[in-house]
Amino acid sequence: MLSNSLIELDRAHLVHPVASYRSHEKAGVRVLTSAKGATVTDATGRQLVDGFAGLWCVNAGYGQESIIEAATRQLQELPYATGYFGLGSEPAIRLAAELAERAPGDLNHVYFTLGGSDAVDSTIRFIRYYYNAQGRPQKDQFISVEQGYHGSSVVGAGLTALPAFHAGFGVPYDWQHKIPSHYAYRNPAGETSEAIIAASVAALRAKVEALGQERVAAFYVEPIQGSGGVLVPPKGWMKAMRALCAELDILFIADEVITGFGRTGPLFACLDDDVVPDFMTVAKGLTSGYVPMGAVFMSDRIYDTIADGAGAAAVGHGYTYSAHPVSAAVGLACLKLYEDSLLENGRKAGARLMAGLESLKSHPLVGDVRGRGMLAAIELVVDKERKTPLPASAEPSRKIFDRAWENGLVIRAFYNGVLGYAPPLCCTDAEIDAIIERTARTLDQTLEDPAVR
Ligand code: PMP
Repeated sequence: MLSNSLIELDRAHLVHPVASYRSHEKAGVRVLTSAKGATVTDATGRQLVDGFAGLWCVNAGYGQESIIEAATRQLQELPYATGYFGLGSEPAIRLAAELAERAPGDLNHVYFTLGGSDAVDSTIRFIRYYYNAQGRPQKDQFISVEQGYHGSSVVGAGLTALPAFHAGFGVPYDWQHKIPSHYAYRNPAGETSEAIIAASVAALRAKVEALGQERVAAFYVEPIQGSGGVLVPPKGWMKAMRALCAELDILFIADEVITGFGRTGPLFACLDDDVVPDFMTVAKGLTSGYVPMGAVFMSDRIYDTIADGAGAAAVGHGYTYSAHPVSAAVGLACLKLYEDSLLENGRKAGARLMAGLESLKSHPLVGDVRGRGMLAAIELVVDKERKTPLPASAEPSRKIFDRAWENGLVIRAFYNGVLGYAPPLCCTDAEIDAIIERTARTLDQTLEDPAVR
């Protein structure tokens, strides 16, 4: 049983990430106590299907013995090794090599971080260094996409384009710019792929022209925008944007923190999009959330320019926990699981998930269904014709999350009535069916809420 004292201690001392502190104090914490496969158990004994894999990160599912054994072995043999002073550890070296072998194109150089935010931050530092090494310091303007998410660090939060991450924090900075999202369901250019791609190409071209091509450093994208509401660009969008960046001489950064490691089908979404970025960032599925780790991939050209630019001097960027051996050992174990079975299972489960969500399209509240692989969303509206969002008074984020929870399902309920799905890749057919059935029940209950009418 969950003791009241734990709730009190949480209220008094634990500051939660991305939370309304006062609402959280009122509601009290929900404590998770154990998990296995795709099922999590809370302190009251309630079992739930985790339709969101924690925070879209437990791609391998909970309780995987091979991951636990790899971490345990590494903790016993060598729990820590720095990468400073020319030192290293075997799992970190092997993981970098295995990842480079599988990454798109010539992304052969891997810099390990602690998560996604510092991976994005690291790209900004590397990009500045790269242009300085070339004698082009004026290339210092960065562009990203509205509704995009690139972390919540002091710098990366300004590339993120979600209001909650800006308000009160003094970001974005004046060197951080945005172009509109491809957001098909609500795109002023219409919903056809050609129109959406043409609009994005025109927007980036115009933005670069306005800033001056010689001043623009890089353009950041997510292959699928995650935290913005699982916004899937049309096929060909990534390729068109990549080609435009090459033409305009600006670096193209693919942020695969969510889309990496089987989330959309292949190991990296860029492989499906047939795109080779200049940098790629990953985290989450890299270690399936068992321990923290992220990574930055960079191309041969970038790495060589930075290395030659520094010469004998140190490139002054690094963390105590860069390339942590326990995280790397977990990363190797995850990679093996993905390739042995989970990528394939995820592809099958993803098709079942998408078909199930499509079947909900006839529900009066479901305006849009979108996704790829095990990454999906439904967007709720009160009027399908007009695409009218749920009113704020319906408190979608809290109330729909709570209803799903009562129904034995964890989902992401965004503030605007978008429901996000990213289940572990190990899901069985029965678990996917449970996600759909419990979503349907949650939608029926939401329809009965007077605030939604
Ligand atoms: N980039 C993207 C695309 C993300 O989705 C996230 C996290 N959701 C981040 C960066 C930041 O990662 P982290 O929370 O591990 O710092």
